[in-house]
Amino acid sequence: MKRWKKLLLALLVVVLFSQIPFAYRRYKLGRLQAAIQQVNSQRRNSEKSDYLEYTGVMHVHSFLGGHSTGNFEQIIAAAQANQLRFVVMTEHTSDRFNTAAMTLKGTHGGILFINGTEFRAGNADRLLLVPGDELANDSRPSSSEDVITRTKAAARLAFVAYPQEFKSWTARGYDGVEVYNVYTDALQINPVTMFFDGLWSYRSYPDLLFANFYRRPDRNLQKWDEAIGSTSRRLVATAGNDAHANVGFSLNSDSGKPLFGVTLDPYERSFRLVRLHVLLPNDKQLDAESLLASLGAGHCFIGFDLFGDTSGFSFSASNGVEHKIQGDEILFEKEVKLSVNTPAPSRVILLKDGKAIKDENAVGRKEYLVAEKGSYRVEVYLPQLGKPVGDQPWIISNPIYVR
Ligand SMILES: [Zn+2]
Repeated sequence: MKRWKKLLLALLVVVLFSQIPFAYRRYKLGRLQAAIQQVNSQRRNSEKSDYLEYTGVMHVHSFLGGHSTGNFEQIIAAAQANQLRFVVMTEHTSDRFNTAAMTLKGTHGGILFINGTEFRAGNADRLLLVPGDELANDSRPSSSEDVITRTKAAARLAFVAYPQEFKSWTARGYDGVEVYNVYTDALQINPVTMFFDGLWSYRSYPDLLFANFYRRPDRNLQKWDEAIGSTSRRLVATAGNDAHANVGFSLNSDSGKPLFGVTLDPYERSFRLVRLHVLLPNDKQLDAESLLASLGAGHCFIGFDLFGDTSGFSFSASNGVEHKIQGDEILFEKEVKLSVNTPAPSRVILLKDGKAIKDENAVGRKEYLVAEKGSYRVEVYLPQLGKPVGDQPWIISNPIYVR
C-alpha cells in the first residue's frame, strides 16, 4: 500500500474512533427520552391542597438591555407554546432609557409578565429586582446594600443572581438566591464536545442536549444554605432561565439575515428546561400582587420539567396545631412532621441546614418526624433516567424553617 494511502487510512480510523463517544451519547439521549416518557406516564394526580400551582419562568432578557436579539413577540409565543402562566422579565439597565418601564408588563397573550431588572452593582455583584424600578433611569454604580435597601423600601423583591460571584452576603434584606442558572451551567460547555454532540444529536434531540451539560449547582446551593444559616432569615431559592436567545452559533448576511444557525437557547427551548412552580392560596387570582407575595414567601419550588413534569410536588409540615408549606416557618412543638409528595416514584433526599440526613429511593409519599429545629428542604432525583441526569436534581424545594 502506498504511504499516502496508509496515512489516509490511519486518519480515517482516528476520525471514526473519535466519533464513538458522540454516537454513544446520541444513543443514550434516545434512551433518556424513552425513560422520560415513562416518568410522565407514571405521574400521579396531585393531592388536594389549599394551594393552586402556577408554572412560569424567571430571569428572561429581551433586546432591550443589549446582549440579546429576542423580541417581545418571540417571548410571548414561547411562553404560550410552553403553557406558562407567568414570565418574570429581568432586563439589563441602560443609562439612556429605563428598561423596566419599557419591557413586558401585565397580561399579554394570557400570560402574566412582571417587569424586572438585572442590576449590576459597583463591585460587579448582580441582583434581580422584581419588579424593577420604573422611575430610576440610572445605571450608575451603586452598592448592593443601597440597591437592596431601596428595593425593599419600595416593597419589591431582591434576589442574589450569580451567587458564585456575589460578595455582599452580609447585606441585609435580600429575599432570596438564584441557585440555578441555565446560562452559568452552559458556560461550562466544551465547544468542541458540544459541536460534535450537536452534529450527532441536535436533529433528533435538540432539547435533550441540555442533559449533556446540566449539573447540580453544588457551590450555589452551598452558598444559599450557608446564607440561611448565617443570617437566620428565610431565603427563597429560584432558578433562572437567563434566556437571551443568543447562545449558539450563526452566520449572518450583510443585512443581518441569518444564513445558517444553531441556537441552543431559543426562548421556547429555554422555557422547557427549568421552571418555577409557584403556589397561590386557592382563593387568590393570579396577578402581579399575588405572584410576588407567594414568590417572596418562598411558596415555590424549582422543577427541571424537561426530565418529567414536576407539577404536583408538595412539601409541607405540621406540628399538630398548624399546617405550613415550603417557604414557611413552623413552631417546634414536641415534634414536627414533614410530608413530601412526589409526582412520580423518585429518590428523595431530605437536607437539614444544608446536610443530607435522609436519602431514600422509590418514594411517592413520605413523612419524616423531625425532633430538632433547623431549616429542612428536599431534593428529588430520578435515578431511573440513568447517568448523568439521574444523578442531578429533578426538583429543588424551598425550605421549611422549624423554629
Ligand atoms: Zn441575565
